[in-house]
Amino acid sequence: MLNWYSCRFFGHYMKQIACPKCKSESLIKSGIVKGRQRFRCKECQYFFTVLKDGKNIDPYYVIKALQLYIEGVTYREIERILGISHVSVMNWVKKYNIKAPENYEYRPTYKVLNHTELIEYFREKDSLKSSGCMITELGDKFMVIKWERFRKNGV
Ligand SMILES: [Zn+2]
Repeated sequence: MLNWYSCRFFGHYMKQIACPKCKSESLIKSGIVKGRQRFRCKECQYFFTVLKDGKNIDPYYVIKALQLYIEGVTYREIERILGISHVSVMNWVKKYNIKAPENYEYRPTYKVLNHTELIEYFREKDSLKSSGCMITELGDKFMVIKWERFRKNGV
């Protein structure tokens, strides 16, 4: 039986991996792809990979993580998007002495889309209205980071 203390203990040490698409934490391990653990989301059937701990992380992901950090994405969100532990991200921020400007005006949102979904997304003019986007390749999918900077009070 788990008492409070051991629950806290587990909560601290177990990395919560969540589906980047629907945020569900009910996942099934689905093999190793190029040193990354592959998961399938039980909720939306989305496949994604997460770096296995203790491996050297590809500089591509270091740069992506720092890019997101500067955009104002939180450590926990970066962990979810890229599958890199927030502790690693914090260490890189320190290592490279990155300082994100303070920003209270807007918060970026993101979506992970496949190519077809990406085309559908940009077919709608409203997807681009009063906002900026950055698209970056992420495995076999694309990450779209969106800023709704020019929208006042969410209108
Ligand atoms: Zn999912």
